[in-house]
Amino acid sequence: MGCALSPSDAPHYRSLSLWHETAEDDWVPRPSLPGDRDTDVAIVGGGFTGLWTALYLARADPSLRIAVLEAETAGFGASGRNGGWCSALFPSSLGSVAKRSSREGALALHAAMRGAVDEVLEVAAEEGIDARAAKGGTIGLARSEPQWVRARAEVDEARRWGLGEDDVRVLDAAEATEVLAGTRVLGATYTPDCAAIHPARLVRGLAEAAVRRGVAVYERTPVTAITAGSVVTRHGTVRAERVIRATEGYTRSLEGQRRQVVPVYSLIIATEPLPDDVWEQIGLRRRETFTDHRHLIIYGQRTADGRLVFGGRGAPYHFGSRIRASYDRVPRVFDALHETLVDLFPVVKDAAITHRWGGALGITRDWTASVGLDRATGLGWGGGYVGDGVGTANLAGRTLADLVLDRDTELTRLPWVGHRSRAWEPEPLRWLGINVGLHAMTWADREEARTRRPSRIARLVSPFIH
Ligand SMILES: Cc1cc2nc3c(=O)[nH]c(=O)nc-3n(C[C@H](O)[C@H](O)[C@H](O)COP(=O)(O)OP(=O)(O)OC[C@H]3O[C@@H](n4cnc5c(N)ncnc54)[C@H](O)[C@@H]3O)c2cc1C
Repeated sequence: MGCALSPSDAPHYRSLSLWHETAEDDWVPRPSLPGDRDTDVAIVGGGFTGLWTALYLARADPSLRIAVLEAETAGFGASGRNGGWCSALFPSSLGSVAKRSSREGALALHAAMRGAVDEVLEVAAEEGIDARAAKGGTIGLARSEPQWVRARAEVDEARRWGLGEDDVRVLDAAEATEVLAGTRVLGATYTPDCAAIHPARLVRGLAEAAVRRGVAVYERTPVTAITAGSVVTRHGTVRAERVIRATEGYTRSLEGQRRQVVPVYSLIIATEPLPDDVWEQIGLRRRETFTDHRHLIIYGQRTADGRLVFGGRGAPYHFGSRIRASYDRVPRVFDALHETLVDLFPVVKDAAITHRWGGALGITRDWTASVGLDRATGLGWGGGYVGDGVGTANLAGRTLADLVLDRDTELTRLPWVGHRSRAWEPEPLRWLGINVGLHAMTWADREEARTRRPSRIARLVSPFIH
């Protein structure tokens, strides 16, 4: 990605998504790095990971010199554009975390993720950030027999881990419809651990809070390379004892890091604000976030101003992990999302779709998120959240702050700390493998719709993508 934008970039940034447009922010970029600098901690990337890290560090030790270097503007990446689920979802199952650590470790990580939802809301309130949040939980509808089987299996699995009704539970058809009146509802899962948020208001608020606490946020400053002790940009070099990579889906832009994290696109549409009588028919009275149990992920929220924001995967992975503004907007995917939305809620058939956008999230080769800090080199990282980055990036920020401050805490002992994923395959294998995986999920949903039985395709592919 380049930085070919001029000082009057504010209109460009404002048009990136519904969230950018409604963040009540002027989007005027902060100054770029003015030349070489010495600092204690340099953080590359001004999204949730970078800004939470900066904020927790500044709160813990106001004497630390902290610089955030952002290629565009704070909240330009996934953090400003996402579906606004601040959830306790972690991208790996309890089973796979336990396999790499222990049952206790997996449960501790799960508990920390649940805590992250409240932590985000509490710290946002403390810092005076109005993220238009409502903690209504998440409802996952089951709208076919195979989805219903998966929904109940998910709750059974939670019980085997000792997690109770307060964590996740099954709703029957009547209870589910009372929360969310979608079509063909057989039942649902419900968890209280999610808040619907306005992500751009949160990420912009975090940047302001960090600046207020003395953090230097340099915008329109693309970093070309990170090495032990320095961050190289064409505006100058920042020397720092600790350097944190917080570039998630954009990590390929750093020299030598092309195969660490791949960018996979997720796209979103938003309706105009819907009238009260339509909301009476749909539900989501507590602004529960929603999905169903299909294979190709969909996600939605009722916004504070009464819109439906609805997103999903299905956009292709681009050869060489390329990222371009045009990849954010794929008419075929927007049309498919609209069709799915109207299939779920026929009452919104004539509602105007006022916004369409997308962005890149980050996936590592083993689909495992991690944070860490190599004490020998001073290089740290956080990311690979596979679309569950809003809550997870908060946990990452707190954990990175503890690691930078050399603190041995409950957070630094969680089993995702220090995990290293191997590099993705070189092209064209990477392109082939990822796109086959993405298509397989669509085929699996079609197969289930046709046969009304659990998909064999999904069974074949899932070991490779989770
Ligand atoms: C469309 C979409 C919907 C999503 N929905 C949800 C959701 O509902 N819930 C959820 O939990 N997660 C969701 N996610 C995932 C979540 O948004 C991300 O995982 C999370 O925001 C990642 O935060 P981050 O700070 O690590 O990365 P980002 O927010 O992507 O920030 C990285 C920053 O680094 C900057 N950068 C990149 N390269 C350089 C460089 N070379 N030099 C300097 N700066 C650089 C970028 O400009 C960017 O601002 C979604 C993602 C997308 C794209």
